Amino acid sequence: MCKINVAIDGPAGAGKSTIARRVSKELGYIYVDTGALYRTVGVSALRKKVDMESDEAIASVLPETEVEMKFVDGEQKMYLNGEDVSVEIRLPEASMAASRVSAVPAVRDFLFDLQRDLARKNNCIMDGRDIGTVVLPDAQVKIFLTASPECRADRRYKELTEKGVEVNYDDVLSDIIKRDYNDSHRAVAPLKPAEDSVILDTSGFELEQSVKAIKDIIKEKIG
Ligand code: C5P
Repeated sequence: MCKINVAIDGPAGAGKSTIARRVSKELGYIYVDTGALYRTVGVSALRKKVDMESDEAIASVLPETEVEMKFVDGEQKMYLNGEDVSVEIRLPEASMAASRVSAVPAVRDFLFDLQRDLARKNNCIMDGRDIGTVVLPDAQVKIFLTASPECRADRRYKELTEKGVEVNYDDVLSDIIKRDYNDSHRAVAPLKPAEDSVILDTSGFELEQSVKAIKDIIKEKIG
């Protein structure tokens, strides 16, 4: 049977994961956070201390990188070579490493089948940067979620400090601006809205408003 796939793309900190997690629970879909896959490969490269400037060096860690995604009580957990790295992948250095490794074509190829397979087997909301454009070009619903860099930095700062991660607001903002630049200027699968996506700017929105807006878009598209 054909599964329902909802693709949500957008820049770092636009609220994709928080919103997608909520909406997928309400609809009974699985939620796939593809950024976590790139973060896991990023952690693998950091641990192996390879030259992060070199595409070849980054690609060389792939044969020894086993990435697994499991759903425990509906929550996505990430495993690197059997070890649960779900917390480690959220650290700021893992964010920058993810942004770097995601520009390497071999890394994108490495993670492509895994993402496609999940979407083929499950009704899902999948978020990332290239879901509507590359990974699931036939998704029934495509949404491009965005917000101003300052608004996104505010949210990310709150999220990290609530988790007990010590960060400085200006560092969070400059990380977001740098990642935006990297993600939208890379040669492979750059961040951009799919032509048939609905663009939603959540600057100034409370979470509930964003959740409702996304649910309304999904309802309108699939009934
Ligand atoms: O979404 P999140 O911020 O966790 O993603 C971490 C990084 O992984 C992003 O900055 C982006 O470079 C990369 N990414 C990507 N394609 C995706 C998901 C994430 O390139 N589909």
